[in-house]
Amino acid sequence: MLGSGQLGRMFALAARRMGYRIHVYSPEAHSPAAQVADGAVVAPYDDHAALGAFANGVAAVTVEFENIPAAALQLVAERRPMRPGPLALQTAQHRLREKDFLVGAGFPVAPYRRVSVPADLPAALAAVPLPALLKSAAFGYDGKGQYPVTNDQEATAALTAIGGEAILETRVDLACEFSVIGARGSDGAQALYAPIRNTHQAGILDLSVAPSGLGPTVDRQARQITGAALEALKVVGVLCVEFFLTTDGRLMVNEVAPRPHNSGHLTIEAGATSQFEQQVRALCGLHLGATDLLCPAAMVNLLGDLWRWGEPRWPAALAVPGVNLHLYGKTQPRPGRKMGHLTALAADPTEAERRVVGARAATRVRGDPEL
Ligand code: AMP
Repeated sequence: MLGSGQLGRMFALAARRMGYRIHVYSPEAHSPAAQVADGAVVAPYDDHAALGAFANGVAAVTVEFENIPAAALQLVAERRPMRPGPLALQTAQHRLREKDFLVGAGFPVAPYRRVSVPADLPAALAAVPLPALLKSAAFGYDGKGQYPVTNDQEATAALTAIGGEAILETRVDLACEFSVIGARGSDGAQALYAPIRNTHQAGILDLSVAPSGLGPTVDRQARQITGAALEALKVVGVLCVEFFLTTDGRLMVNEVAPRPHNSGHLTIEAGATSQFEQQVRALCGLHLGATDLLCPAAMVNLLGDLWRWGEPRWPAALAVPGVNLHLYGKTQPRPGRKMGHLTALAADPTEAERRVVGARAATRVRGDPEL
């Protein structure tokens, strides 16, 4: 596993359950994945000697995030089966390449233009209806490197703040956001999960609920796009497609992530096969598992902010029926940092949402003004 955060940790736990041994490589010591792995190399991605030795010592390699430098991906892919391969990762790690890929594949996206120097702005502002967002092209996630733009002055200021290549993208009116997670095996077979409805707070995923209640038309269209994206990017592994549904009923692709996704964590308890087991199966050349949702479910993230007044009261959350706790073993609860999540199962999605939101609220400790 390249990368050693919570996605690597949950992959490692799924792999271990199936009897595999896991080695992780990342620049971070005492990481969430290293805590549950058989071995961990702590070295930067540009230490090619360490990376080469790591690759030579394992049977196959996967990743937990797409922002791994291209040279590192290439080096590993030359030595061992790397799933997903560099094409999918390099497409997803750069917003402009990603958008161009989505348009080229015929998928609907919000209007956008490339902007890298101030001289690019007039044409972009003429082509992209405002209000818009200026997003950095490289290394963006969770709303990082994004600036709202409602006029020329804000666009210029945002470009200065980004200080490099960016895309100007119309801010669409969202009725809702949702995601579809799919997997593609080494034989090209696909397995697609049903859409999961997502709510964000300050650009960070807050709540995921399944089933989504979006209806069969959106469901079919979104699954079809996800299957086509898996195929076009030749992913062997898991891919998440994030969608927007606009207030006037249009479906748009926001972005793709060629790995398990935060919105798919509820598949651990509610899926016939979790997204992490699916990643293990694809990496190891096994048949993909069934994607049925066995029970309605809802998930909320536990961000570092929750620790502000002390360790949250986990027993109170676990007293809510159907609630499961996942903590990632991170010691520094910084604001906005994903420390863990809760998943609730229930007879219907509304009740699952009520339980999981209630369980998180119950963890708040004395002194918290929101109590
Ligand atoms: P991103 O990092 O691009 O996934 O953006 C994070 C979040 O910002 C999304 O999940 C949306 O809630 C919001 N967002 C991003 N792009 C747009 C857009 N073009 N229109 C409306 N909301 C957006």
